[in-house]
Amino acid sequence: MRVFRNIPQPNKIRGQLHRALILITFIIGLCIFIPTLFIEFRQTIQHQNEEMVNYLNAQTYFFESWLTERSSDIHTIANLDFVKGYHYEKAQDFFQDFKDKTDFTDLIFVNKDGIVQFDTVTELTTNGTGVNVQKREYFQIAKKTQQPYITDIFISKVTNQPIVAFASPILNEQQEFNGVVFGTVNVQIINQYLHESRVGFLGHAYIMNQNGMMLTELNVRNNDSSSEQFIVDEHILDFAVNNTANDLHVYKDMNGKWVFAKSKPINQQGNYDYQINEHQLAPYAQEFQELCSSFNDMSTKVRQDTILLKELSITCQLTKLYNRRYLIEQGELVFEKCLEDENACSCIAIDIDFFKKVNDTYGHLIGDEVLKHVANIISNSVRRVDLITRYGGEEFVILSPDTTIESAIKIAERVRENVEANPYTNDHVKINVTVSIGIAQYGRASDVATFYELLDKADQALYMAKESGRNQLRVYDSTKVGTNI
Ligand code: GH3
Ligand code: MG
Ligand code: MG
Repeated sequence: MRVFRNIPQPNKIRGQLHRALILITFIIGLCIFIPTLFIEFRQTIQHQNEEMVNYLNAQTYFFESWLTERSSDIHTIANLDFVKGYHYEKAQDFFQDFKDKTDFTDLIFVNKDGIVQFDTVTELTTNGTGVNVQKREYFQIAKKTQQPYITDIFISKVTNQPIVAFASPILNEQQEFNGVVFGTVNVQIINQYLHESRVGFLGHAYIMNQNGMMLTELNVRNNDSSSEQFIVDEHILDFAVNNTANDLHVYKDMNGKWVFAKSKPINQQGNYDYQINEHQLAPYAQEFQELCSSFNDMSTKVRQDTILLKELSITCQLTKLYNRRYLIEQGELVFEKCLEDENACSCIAIDIDFFKKVNDTYGHLIGDEVLKHVANIISNSVRRVDLITRYGGEEFVILSPDTTIESAIKIAERVRENVEANPYTNDHVKINVTVSIGIAQYGRASDVATFYELLDKADQALYMAKESGRNQLRVYDSTKVGTNI
């Protein structure tokens, strides 16, 4: 019996071994490569996700701030003394100046009947520009709610451009509706901000309203001046509206490419003084850090502008004292605090005697100088804690917290004496001035329950001081108004 053994050639064995080795290496390679690819993919998604979160956070903070700030600009303007007082010339100059320095494309003054009185594009005419906005939503809402209002995007009848408008009611001294200040901004501005700040983030960002209208695309699409609206897909709108913080949405875009997206709602209650922590951004691209740094600069500027505007809205420009608006705003707080601490609180109402005569004899300009002079004397006669306001015309009110009637009388008498002893003088004239003063106090024994009652009682006492011959003080007494001190 012969046994044949098929002994392979040494070369063949080597070849097979070689192939097996290649196969094993390939399998091992695949085992390493696939998870690496997977990890890499996950990391890229995670990185993009983080970038999108940061980007959207910065953007929404920006827009929330921007919306609130523009709204608060208009609100502040509507509360300026010369706007409330319908001083057209001064208001028109201010509107023009303000428009030139800000994002507003137009600022409009509407009277209480809905007639546009003037705007920064059209000159003032005594009967208004003839445009009646009474039926417009912003006018009606501002009138009804007496609150600032931000409109949805709409197409301007004048420029045919998409605009957003900010409205705020003008209230008279009795807090009744007396007109509207209305500011418009072209949506192009929002688009521009979005494009300017798209560094460090590779994708595209859009803003849409709650109905799915693409606001940042609208302008581009409306270059032909048509008012065609661009509404996003229903499922994208659904995703944007119902999105939660961690949602990452994957879908095919308009060009048929797969994209993933994130969204963040913009609230109208903005957060203008938000500052991004730049230390936390160290791992991110330089451009992104620069974006955030510009955001912080913007935020600082917005805060400064807001403080300036706020100051302007609560200060009388002639005397530099606080105005009536501030007294109403702060008075209640001061009063409540005194109530809480069970302390007394006094109110001193001052009115210049026969001031009309000063105007009639020397003219309004000198009248203004006399007002400033008296305001200075009052400021120098009271304590730091006293809140002095120019209440209106030639009337001033001092609110003195934690102050008994005895101390208030001393303050008031000092004011009266100092005004009498220091006539107004310039190179040509010397004008003797006197003031009449009424004082009221909130305290255990008084019948004053609110800040407004305190103010009213001081006014009643002032009336008695006038009746009794002027240049004197009277204290409100619950049993006998105007009892002599
Ligand atoms: P009384 O002693 O009864 O207070 O007499 P009066 O003349 O001071 O009071 P009246 O209320 O009759 O007149 C106040 C005047 O104050 C009328 C108004 O023209 C003037 N006035 C109000 N605000 C200003 C202002 O800002 N500048 C100037 N120059 N005058 C003002
Ligand atoms: Mg007077
Ligand atoms: Mg008066």
